Amino acid sequence: MARVDPRALTRELLAFNTINPPGMERACAQRLGAILEDAGYAVAYHEYAEARTSLIATIGGADKPPICFTGHMDTVPLGAAPWKHDAFAGETDGDRVYGRGSTDMKSGIAAFVAAAVELARLAARSPGITLVITAGEEIGCEGARYLADHRILDRAGALVVAEPTANYPYIGHKGLAWFEVETHGVTAHGSMPEVGDNAIVKMARVIGDLERFRFPLESHAVMGKPTLNVGTIRGGLNTNSVPDEACITVDTRTVPGIDHTHLCKSLEALLAPRGATVRKIVDCASLYTEPSDEWVQRVFEICTPFLDGRPTPKTITFSTDGADLKRGYGGRIPAVVLGPGEPKLAHQTDEWCSTTRIEQSVDLFRTLMRDWCSI
Ligand SMILES: [Zn+2]
Repeated sequence: MARVDPRALTRELLAFNTINPPGMERACAQRLGAILEDAGYAVAYHEYAEARTSLIATIGGADKPPICFTGHMDTVPLGAAPWKHDAFAGETDGDRVYGRGSTDMKSGIAAFVAAAVELARLAARSPGITLVITAGEEIGCEGARYLADHRILDRAGALVVAEPTANYPYIGHKGLAWFEVETHGVTAHGSMPEVGDNAIVKMARVIGDLERFRFPLESHAVMGKPTLNVGTIRGGLNTNSVPDEACITVDTRTVPGIDHTHLCKSLEALLAPRGATVRKIVDCASLYTEPSDEWVQRVFEICTPFLDGRPTPKTITFSTDGADLKRGYGGRIPAVVLGPGEPKLAHQTDEWCSTTRIEQSVDLFRTLMRDWCSI
């Protein structure tokens, strides 16, 4: 049986600079593809733009669809603060491996690739395993969206999104919809405001309206309340003029059952009396599986020995490729977010991952693959 050392693979993946923008995941994808092809997987590459390469690796096949594991290769930029550790050299210190993407989420990819390679021969005669390794997650899930929109995804019966959760299985996350709201007016000299029409004053009223906005669903049993935050504001060019334009951006985090197109229409209707225009600028759906789902219960059982006790149903704060991939697989499959990275370290300076957790993840993923494929 072939063996991939998941710690060494994490360090190798860290050496590919996949900071997004610009991402440029092709070389990283090809390296992973070569490892998986060697192990017997059929590998296909899909580029949504030049060098923005996702890969799908599959093995096995039966009436029962395969289990799917997913991870993204791109990372966020390093940030303004200096790093104490090289962000690409895979430096280690005790149990920690440092680098941009160590937690989010090259360790997660390394863990499921190691488990998938180890089980390749057995999985070939079973429902099988599919790995979807994406480009462009950090800016709007572009890689996963491309795969779903172009109907490239074939079949899967369950989905594991190996984002950083310190190996705790989360049953989903909120959706995210961002809006740009503009008000317009008529400019005039600042000494004669009565002849102008002040766009900033209009915007102040818009913000008041937004504070009173009520979502069509006010709460979710596991996720809690949907939220709305005004994140940026811009307007006016000089103090001695009446501003004729103002703009805000609004970040909403939604729960299952809130449709983002409908939400956009509700905001338009609310703000139309102020003459404001509303435009949706980012749209990621929520991801959720009922905790009573049979496979979710199996995942909880399998994770229990690695945690302080049996997991309870929880959702994670960040969003993932999972929502788009689930849609691409027909929208009905159960999904969990489960991976070795430390959620608090995602996007941080001197990001690191525990190598013990990476090994634990390989154990967990191997068990989930064996359980699904009965091998
Ligand atoms: Zn991530």
